[in-house]
Amino acid sequence: MTIQWFPGHMAKARRQVTEKLKLVDIIFELVDARLPLSSRNPMIDEIINHKPRLVILNKEDMADPHATKEWIRYFKEQGVEAVSVNSQAGNGLDKIVKAAESILQEKFDRMRARGMKPRAMRAMIVGIPNVGKSTLINRIAKKNIAKTGNMPGVTKAQQWIKTAKQLELLDTPGILWPKFEDPETGFKLALTGAIKDSILNLQDVAIYGLRYLEERYPARLEERYGFSALPDDMAQVFHQIGERRGCLSSGGEVDYDKVTDVIIRDVRNSQFGRLTFDIPPEKA
Ligand code: GDP
Repeated sequence: MTIQWFPGHMAKARRQVTEKLKLVDIIFELVDARLPLSSRNPMIDEIINHKPRLVILNKEDMADPHATKEWIRYFKEQGVEAVSVNSQAGNGLDKIVKAAESILQEKFDRMRARGMKPRAMRAMIVGIPNVGKSTLINRIAKKNIAKTGNMPGVTKAQQWIKTAKQLELLDTPGILWPKFEDPETGFKLALTGAIKDSILNLQDVAIYGLRYLEERYPARLEERYGFSALPDDMAQVFHQIGERRGCLSSGGEVDYDKVTDVIIRDVRNSQFGRLTFDIPPEKA
């Protein structure tokens, strides 16, 4: 599900997250490891308002592993703990509990010192659509409870998923909106399937992808499409890819829309290998 965001939706989403903040000790901010910056909500710091936070770079299986390490280091330098996981396969989930324990250790030590009964850490997942929130919740719960929708007219009580003894997770994630003002961010979100395909011109998205590959991963471009440097004339490029991949109309002409689809599908299906589209700021 990709939502078309309007100011009213944003305000509602923000209110829903804010209301649940007081229920939890820590926020798990889920981002796409391929876009650790572009897939963040621009107002997250303001929304969570000093609540302890762990950044979780999800879909690490699709991201450039070297870039993921750089990103984790970058977040740490900013004073924010970060871990990478593959929610689909369930890899790295133990890192989440460990990191949360270390972030909350002082708070829980203080509670113990005041004689309060030990309890599990309480957490909530927040993130933009498609970043993998439900997948992670389901993985943690090991059963399919995150997708159960609300029944009309019935107010659902807040459900907690009890995981490894030390952690309780709210069963509904906080959904935040992606940031669009910057065209590059839009292209990156579209390339990875984070926003609806109808929002941007897909040919522009495909061209952005090709240019990014040319700049950062030319050998992979060469391997898949037979060239590593792009000429100024993109029509020529589309033509070449179209002929190589058989993207032809019924009349035997190269069909540019089919070429566009092939390029975007190749990126989304990791046919160029594991790619990261955001570079940590000091490296850009
Ligand atoms: P949500 O909108 O944030 O709840 O996102 P979903 O949990 O529905 O996931 C969106 C898509 O990403 C689904 O097709 C998932 O199968 C896929 N996905 C989620 N986590 C991972 C992951 O770690 N690796 C890969 N490759 N795909 C993932």
